[in-house]
Amino acid sequence: MRFKPMRPALGRWCSALAGAVLAFGISGVLDAQQTQAPTPQSPAGQPQPAAPAQPAGARGNAAAAQAAQGAVRDANGAIVGFTALAEIPGTPWRIHDAARPHPRVITPGAGPGAAPSDAIVLFDGKDLSKWARSRNGELSDATWPVKDGYFETGAGSGSIVTREKFGDVQLHVEFATPAPARGFSQDRGNSGVIFMGRYEVQVLDSYENVTYADGQAAAIYGEYPPLVNVARKPGEWQTYDIVFEAPKFNGTTLVSPAYITVFWNGVLVQHRRPVMGSTSATTTQHAYTPHDPELPLTLQDHSHPVHYRNIWIRRLAGYDLPESK
Ligand code: MG
Repeated sequence: MRFKPMRPALGRWCSALAGAVLAFGISGVLDAQQTQAPTPQSPAGQPQPAAPAQPAGARGNAAAAQAAQGAVRDANGAIVGFTALAEIPGTPWRIHDAARPHPRVITPGAGPGAAPSDAIVLFDGKDLSKWARSRNGELSDATWPVKDGYFETGAGSGSIVTREKFGDVQLHVEFATPAPARGFSQDRGNSGVIFMGRYEVQVLDSYENVTYADGQAAAIYGEYPPLVNVARKPGEWQTYDIVFEAPKFNGTTLVSPAYITVFWNGVLVQHRRPVMGSTSATTTQHAYTPHDPELPLTLQDHSHPVHYRNIWIRRLAGYDLPESK
């Protein structure tokens, strides 16, 4: 027997509304026969596209089948959705649901690594106005030197934080470790991308530079080495594209850990790893302490002149958001 879950009222309402919009507002609907007769309504008020009159042969059969499936057509006669296909479990939608909101349209970046139109650009090569030095909660201007389209970690002037706070995000960051390389292990090109002041994706020169595995570049520090080491040479620009999902708390109870996904130079190296807690601890196990849902992003200063450029971030929102008009 086919499982037939209850369709949530909101979905039914949205379906009816969008069906009405599509049926009456956008398209002028269906075919010529329907322009001559009102679209019949279901008991719930949802438009039910009518079958074409006097279908003939295979073409008529196909049209009748589409009508039975609740095919909704645009002004060109193209089918742009259905109202009566199978339900998608766990959602208020049916397969190819005409009422399902269409994703927002954004403009992609001009080339690989370029910020799309909905990104917040944290550094565009010019200034550090989106960043600050934080001391005991007091913010002051970031003083890391800005040079020819990039900036350099602070030579002891401390880590910097974004002035804006973030929760779930997609982050793009480009970095280059010092050339020629100096130092060994953790003392070579060390910096870090630290989400919410707690959860670090390591930045390090990991080109022919051995260190502990869970502390090399692209490691979730002290927890997970990357799947592979895809380091470029010192001085060459490298990319991190990171999806960070903030931990969720209910009061003092952890409901969901943070998850981190990292593409390093285009290669997947962290595949939605569940973070164990703040990554700064080394003599105790990593653990969570409750915190705000949004907090600043940090770039770590280890007095190594790591270069950064082209940094942008996108807040992540849910699927099936209402369409903005
Ligand atoms: Mg570090």
